[in-house]
Amino acid sequence: MPPPSKTPTVLELFPEETREAAELLKQAVPLMVRHEIPPNPVHYALWYCYSKGSDPELNRRLDKVVEDFDAFPPEIATKLFREYVIHGELEQARANQQQVIELVDDIEDDVSRSVSGSQNYQLSLAQGLSALQEPIIDDLPNVLNDLQESTQLMQDQQEKFLYRLRAAQNEIHHLRSQLERAHLAATLDSLTRVFNRHAFTRLLDQALDESSTGLALVILDIDHFKQFNDQYGHPLGDRVLQHVGQLLRDQLPAHAFAARYGGEEFCVVLRNSATFEDAHRFADLLRNKIQALRVKVRSTDQVLDSITASFGVAMAEPGDTFETLLTRADDALYQAKRGGRNQVHPLLSESMLSA
Ligand code: GH3
Ligand code: MG
Ligand code: MG
Repeated sequence: MPPPSKTPTVLELFPEETREAAELLKQAVPLMVRHEIPPNPVHYALWYCYSKGSDPELNRRLDKVVEDFDAFPPEIATKLFREYVIHGELEQARANQQQVIELVDDIEDDVSRSVSGSQNYQLSLAQGLSALQEPIIDDLPNVLNDLQESTQLMQDQQEKFLYRLRAAQNEIHHLRSQLERAHLAATLDSLTRVFNRHAFTRLLDQALDESSTGLALVILDIDHFKQFNDQYGHPLGDRVLQHVGQLLRDQLPAHAFAARYGGEEFCVVLRNSATFEDAHRFADLLRNKIQALRVKVRSTDQVLDSITASFGVAMAEPGDTFETLLTRADDALYQAKRGGRNQVHPLLSESMLSA
């Protein structure tokens, strides 16, 4: 039996501090995602060691497995785990090697379950050992002793790994939600929760770069909003804007995006082969929904039913830029205002008229 001192301690295997371990995991996780490696403790451990780069041979073998197989074969993962992560120390428990390998397999199912599972396993081993005070086979207590030690080592490794994994996960969650909040703050209009003007111009530019085919711009402007503010106050005006934002978000078709372009002016871009009729119908739906809005004046309980908006619709043409398309939609909106408001005005291009 090899001397137990050959078994590496947990700290020798994973000497990094939590922060450094979290960094390594953050490098490992995207690699696993890129290669479609299912997340389980054996894989985490392997890719953790890969990121750490402590054994070039392991990195070479992992690269090769990823190159040769579509899905990472579990038996190879287990083999590499044993050879490189726990350095074959399981071999010391020759008599019960198979049982321990099954334990390794178990941890692939669920980390937490595995930890408590190995605790139970260790407990039953300890009980077995104490029952063998008078050994029938001389070597058996030693074998069991070795097995218990290696099980303890595995359990320590798993617990330490689980601890670091959770620390890394928490940090990743925290960073992700910070990023999401910063991203939202930079792109959303805080009052109406649709895109702000800056995000909108970028999105529309991008959309036009991709294709102008089947792309429609609907622009809407609330009618006599200055008068509304003057009569009922700015806070109620803000509530109307919020309602319009909510309405846009609720009614938005797939692949479309909406934005508050200015004070009481909103834009919607329809994509995905939108036709002129689709855009016109959508604008008219919004017009009806805005007309159906009912806003209560809190101080008097009066219910206002007079909110309307005017709409301009324009289809993108080849060669359109953000400015040329917006100018056409704006012209159409102007016509809708001139025509008496609370209406949709389409700007028919020359090519549409001659068709
Ligand atoms: P029209 O029918 O021609 O569009 O008339 P209008 O009064 O809506 O147009 P005008 O451009 O003269 O006025 C726009 C008003 O929108 C002026 C401003 O008080 C109001 N407004 C702009 N931004 C906000 C906002 O964030 N909150 C509120 N409550 N009002 C706003
Ligand atoms: Mg306006
Ligand atoms: Mg207006």
